[in-house]
Amino acid sequence: MPSPYDFHIHTAYLKCANETMSVPALVRRCEGLGLEAIAITDHLNAPEFLPQHSLIRQDLNEIATSMRIYFGVEVNVIDKDTGAVSIDEAQRAEGGFEMVIGGPHSSYFDKPDKEAIIDLQHRLMLQVLANPLVDVLVHPWWFGTAEFRPGGPMEWLTDMGQIPDWHVRELSEAALRYGKAIEANHSAFFIGNQYGPTFRETYPHYLAEIAGYGVRISIATDAHDISRLDGIHPMMDILESVGITREQLWTPEMLLPAPSA
Ligand SMILES: [Zn+2]
Ligand SMILES: [Zn+2]
Repeated sequence: MPSPYDFHIHTAYLKCANETMSVPALVRRCEGLGLEAIAITDHLNAPEFLPQHSLIRQDLNEIATSMRIYFGVEVNVIDKDTGAVSIDEAQRAEGGFEMVIGGPHSSYFDKPDKEAIIDLQHRLMLQVLANPLVDVLVHPWWFGTAEFRPGGPMEWLTDMGQIPDWHVRELSEAALRYGKAIEANHSAFFIGNQYGPTFRETYPHYLAEIAGYGVRISIATDAHDISRLDGIHPMMDILESVGITREQLWTPEMLLPAPSA
């Protein structure tokens, strides 16, 4: 079954995605993929980037499409002691963001101190889930390529079996308690080979365990190049291969308050 959604997409405006990712081009590509709803979620690592986000919003206002498009933003953990993220309430309101996705983007370690890294990463993810400003925890256990270089802090993470079961339970319980979704991210884990074959095999089961607790999964490509958008249907195939169904997917409608009678 094809995926109906992609709720993590970047644009060329913030210079992280390449020039193929203009707003009209990515919208057309997502229409071509038959998607019902998408979210544009470019990075906001500091408030000075808010003006670029307003350009995205202007483009969206001018596009005619039957697809539902949400104007969102991706934020980063900027303080490893408090788990604080790179947006505050005033910036969320000023930017007019309909949804916020976020999570840690670093191990915060230089050395491969495995247990300490797992502990810290887990704590930061719990703090992100508890943060009322964030709606979706992005790409759990993703780390940049540089951290995987031989001798780098993360080169050991080649099997999700290394993450204790009680962590998965605690993470899932936090997501349920705060009404948050956890992301299934195609570009982060299923493109390239930095994690190795065992990781790729065990990661979908990790997501299935989370979904098994009743947590909604936010399906996404995290595309930075237009061709990466095509990964959304393979991502759904991967989810279905471990028993996750369309009914278990998250959508931003779940954020909206029920209309009063
Ligand atoms: Zn990210
Ligand atoms: Zn991203």
